[in-house]
Amino acid sequence: MDFEINDQQKLMRDSLRAFLKKECPIEYVRDCDDNERFPFELYEKLAAEGWLGLPIPEEYGGMGGTCTDLAVFLEEFAAHFEAGANIFYTTIVIATDAITHFGTEEQKRDLLPKLARGEIRFAFSLSEPNSGSDAASLRTRAVLEGDEWVINGQKMFCSCAQEADYILLMARSDVEAPKHKGITMFLLDTRTPGVEIRKLRKLGLKPMDLNEIFLNDVRLPKDAIIGAVNTGWMNALKTLDYERCCLSAVNVGAAQSCLDKVVAYTNEREQFGQKISSFQLTRAKLADMDMEIEAARLLLYRSANLVDRGIPNNKESAIANLYSSETYVRAALNGMRMMGGWGYLMEFDMQRHFRDSKLAEIGGGTSEILRIIISREITK
Ligand SMILES: Cc1cc2nc3c(=O)[nH]c(=O)nc-3n(C[C@H](O)[C@H](O)[C@H](O)COP(=O)(O)OP(=O)(O)OC[C@H]3O[C@@H](n4cnc5c(N)ncnc54)[C@H](O)[C@@H]3O)c2cc1C
Repeated sequence: MDFEINDQQKLMRDSLRAFLKKECPIEYVRDCDDNERFPFELYEKLAAEGWLGLPIPEEYGGMGGTCTDLAVFLEEFAAHFEAGANIFYTTIVIATDAITHFGTEEQKRDLLPKLARGEIRFAFSLSEPNSGSDAASLRTRAVLEGDEWVINGQKMFCSCAQEADYILLMARSDVEAPKHKGITMFLLDTRTPGVEIRKLRKLGLKPMDLNEIFLNDVRLPKDAIIGAVNTGWMNALKTLDYERCCLSAVNVGAAQSCLDKVVAYTNEREQFGQKISSFQLTRAKLADMDMEIEAARLLLYRSANLVDRGIPNNKESAIANLYSSETYVRAALNGMRMMGGWGYLMEFDMQRHFRDSKLAEIGGGTSEILRIIISREITK
């Protein structure tokens, strides 16, 4: 049992750290947050340095990173710029995963190198106004008419759709089949007539836009699908462990950033003639934060290791996701508490974590759904 990342991964982390220090200073993070601005410049620089290709197989122009490599990358990225790490995950990782595993050779050769070079971006659209946790009950309808699919419906909560060139769109292609078996993943070019994308206002993760999508008689070629017809849901399930690892890595990195910030603050701030970090109640909170983040990190890397060895880890990845998300929310909350009124001010960064962290308990399955998954695994 090895609890360390390897030398190459340490090197990668250090070089990413140096890159982000130079290209993604805290002023840039604040500017993107304050102005709800997608970080286009950073995206281009990440592409130029080859980072966008990390999860993409080498034969398609990427670096062929493992799940553990990606976890190291996302943890470090999120510690600097959580929204940036989420954008990376949304616009590259989910699509790479789907295309690599289920796409045709032609789709891989066409799309993956462009993704690695930052020439195209993706979004993933599953949720609808009436189907969130029960996502398989989605109603957006795809009907095959001759050589074309005709799609009608409304999608909800799609991250980065307005910046995307393609959306992996989940729609019902068979109304007779059981709900999990009648869903197909479509490759939707966002410029297709009949697609309307609207922005939703939200609490946090301001640089990562959130959209709703209206689909009105959208016509797609018959082959604009990823994976076989009616296998969209089953295929999505196959890559969930990997995706939950990625989300856990973002949570761990962002939680660590809360701790680092609050340690710096409590070592500086004085009350009653002493640094507030010298008060036992403060120290106990810091110790708890550190303990929880270390535990979340171990859960994350155990799960990534299982993914890399091809061992199913539905329970382990759900535990890592659940624990890391709740750890992050608690870290942000404790960070706010220890900064008193100063944490409440927009000019300090803790309020951003306070706002951003909440999504961690919703996005990759709510905490309730993750508990259901874990309990199902231990009672079967
Ligand atoms: C910022 C943001 C970005 C997102 N990005 C994307 C994206 O890119 N693509 C995408 O497809 N979706 C995205 N989502 C949607 C997200 O996946 C859903 O919000 C999430 O799955 C929950 O669905 P819901 O919001 O409809 O809540 P609901 O499913 O309506 O749940 C409401 C409450 O009921 C609870 N609940 C539901 N079922 C059960 C049950 N069986 N037992 C106990 N409790 C239950 C939930 O845990 C929750 O507390 C995003 C959401 C947000 C907020």
